[in-house]
Amino acid sequence: MSKGVLLLSGGLDSSLAGMILGTMGVDLVALHLESPFGCDSMAEQMAREIGIPLIVRSKGEPFLDLLARPKYGYGKAMNPCIDCRIHMFNMGRTVMEEVGASFLVTGEVVGQRPMSQTKRAIFSIDGDSGMEGRVLRPLSAKLLPETIPEKEGIVDRRRLFGWAGRSRKPQLALAKRLHLSVIPSPAGGCLLTDSHFTERVEDFVQIDWDARPAMGERRLPAASMLRFGRHFKFEEGEWVIVGRDDSDNRHLESHIRGAGVGFRPEGFDGPLVCFVTLEQEPSWRMEALASGALHAFGGGKVPSGDLSVTLLSATGERRHQLPALSPDQSHLMKKETWIPRWRR
Ligand code: SF4
Repeated sequence: MSKGVLLLSGGLDSSLAGMILGTMGVDLVALHLESPFGCDSMAEQMAREIGIPLIVRSKGEPFLDLLARPKYGYGKAMNPCIDCRIHMFNMGRTVMEEVGASFLVTGEVVGQRPMSQTKRAIFSIDGDSGMEGRVLRPLSAKLLPETIPEKEGIVDRRRLFGWAGRSRKPQLALAKRLHLSVIPSPAGGCLLTDSHFTERVEDFVQIDWDARPAMGERRLPAASMLRFGRHFKFEEGEWVIVGRDDSDNRHLESHIRGAGVGFRPEGFDGPLVCFVTLEQEPSWRMEALASGALHAFGGGKVPSGDLSVTLLSATGERRHQLPALSPDQSHLMKKETWIPRWRR
């Protein structure tokens, strides 16, 4: 088998790794593994640019488990890079079997990342995933032991590189030489390395770990909603998400049916209000909170009295009336009642 599977984040390094092998005529299939938290990846565009087919898979629920209890710990933020690489290599091996490939290709550069790209970490990741000799790293190959595709003459080692460290200069020069039409960010923009996102992920992991047996398939859509909207937690444990703008509303709406219940205003302007919950039907408490959120964040455009909304849940969508708030619930209409769950 002379085919390889390229782990394509959509960042510059993995794109270059694909381009280098492309210039040798190596048969490649790209595999992009999506984080449950989402990212703005350029994988599709870069696979087109390299001229290879792309398979997209979610890292799935096992990734949420390893995120909560990573065997090798976290990096500077909530990034469990070594465990994540092992997980990705395991998923890569499955795809290798499916497409008849014999090796993996990555854009890793020795010494570029302190946690997962030291030589020691690289050897340990290859060992733990059972992939020794079958992971080709074209950007640093000359600093690493010869791999099976090199030994078998599928890949010409002389045309690979021996780069190390954090400088991007060689990558940028090569991108120019290979006429890359866009220069993506270095590593595809993983949110778990973003310290601003850490508070959200820490909080999510705490809730998710305890709730995982009950939440089941709801875990992934709930994770996907973490980066959109304003999030609030109420004393009875309700997790409420309110869209900030049309873009938030659209993204939240695309996930809420898998994660709980949503209320979309009908006949008036207002945000989408979502509840991450196991319930399929709104409780009176949810109705009161949804009505309060619509008033508090509706920009003064929400009518008084009962509110007409569309109820979104796993069972579909239907029209629904939110009863008018009683005087003792009127505090829910005030923004001061709504204390954000996270500082950022
Ligand atoms: S940066 Fe993100 S995607 Fe990359 S190895 Fe670390 S956790 Fe995984």
